Amino acid sequence: MNKTLILVVEDDRTVQNLMTTTLKTCNYRYIVAVNGEIAIMEAATHNPDIILLDLGLPDIDGMEVIKKIRTWSDVPIIIISARSEDSDKVEALDAGADDYLTKPFSVEELLARIRVTERRIVFNRREQNESNIFVNGKLKIDYSSGCAYIDEKELHLTPIEYKLLCLLASNVGKVLTHTYLTQKIWGHSWENDVASLRVFMATLRKKIDKESMSVQYIQTHVGIGYRMIRVD
Ligand code: CA
Repeated sequence: MNKTLILVVEDDRTVQNLMTTTLKTCNYRYIVAVNGEIAIMEAATHNPDIILLDLGLPDIDGMEVIKKIRTWSDVPIIIISARSEDSDKVEALDAGADDYLTKPFSVEELLARIRVTERRIVFNRREQNESNIFVNGKLKIDYSSGCAYIDEKELHLTPIEYKLLCLLASNVGKVLTHTYLTQKIWGHSWENDVASLRVFMATLRKKIDKESMSVQYIQTHVGIGYRMIRVD
């Protein structure tokens, strides 16, 4: 039996059945909530490992559910919604969602996102135990000395590139929006900051790519942000 407990928040019976059948087939434990109020209550009562959240709910909007749950919990939240605009994804990610899947979705894609999230949970737990060193494939960050390496070769990063790398690393597997990153780095998010962010991200990537050859660590989500991928 898979130990991961998943809270499915979905009012549409057909989609709900598709999700629960899929989860059942893969031996996940799950609970179902058909509206936002029940979702918040179930999240508080059962402390699930992952939440799959529809945004269009009959009582309160899914965005409110994210904000409410984030006041006490860091549980990974994967949005599963028909809203497909970049602005909707950005809003949900900025409110604290971890990932976003647009309806209609394939069962394989849903399971892939759940697996990525499960790996991130395990990874984060491990990170907390060895908090001074971050390792992802050949990439290593030594937080105590403020140095990053690929294959033991030091990357000569500027302070902002290093800060960006640390932000991506501490959220490995999660898409970080332009707003989130610029806020963290400069304390504000103006039009120019996003342009600067692109420049710093490009130079950071170039330095990583130079040493890591074919391995791609940072994924671009056009119009949304960036994500570090777990490579091993
Ligand atoms: Ca719905």
